[in-house]
Amino acid sequence: MLSPSLEDYLEEIYRLLQNNDAARVSDIAACLDVTLPSVNNAIHKLSEKDYLIYKKYRELVLTDKGRRLGKFLVERNSILQRFLQVIDSKCNINAEAEAMEHYLTLPTIRSIENLLDFLENNIECREKFEKHSRYRENKGLGLVNGYKK
Ligand code: CA
Repeated sequence: MLSPSLEDYLEEIYRLLQNNDAARVSDIAACLDVTLPSVNNAIHKLSEKDYLIYKKYRELVLTDKGRRLGKFLVERNSILQRFLQVIDSKCNINAEAEAMEHYLTLPTIRSIENLLDFLENNIECREKFEKHSRYRENKGLGLVNGYKK
């Protein structure tokens, strides 16, 4: 298992390689808002664990193992973002998905994926759910923030 931080690096490298010819250290640093030494450190660790191959001044290449896990990490993030959109959470969807992805277990994420698939294939259910959400919102129903005065 990789640490949440290394998962994020691998996820971002996979994403960059999907959309570009190469994943540069500076691009990774910009995407994750971290320093260049942090990226180099992470790349070194990922390379030690056989997720990627990196030689100085050469392009960074994912191994099969790295590609497989990278694909999973990108999909997991995308499922959670879609979930937050479908339930119409008023949160920062990016940040929330980032937080959730490292703490939810695979069975839970698969169940969420199943729910999304169901709602996408049963539009009438999704519409009913959206109507229900609007009703509750208009009535001011829902959990009250106990931290607020
Ligand atoms: Ca992530």
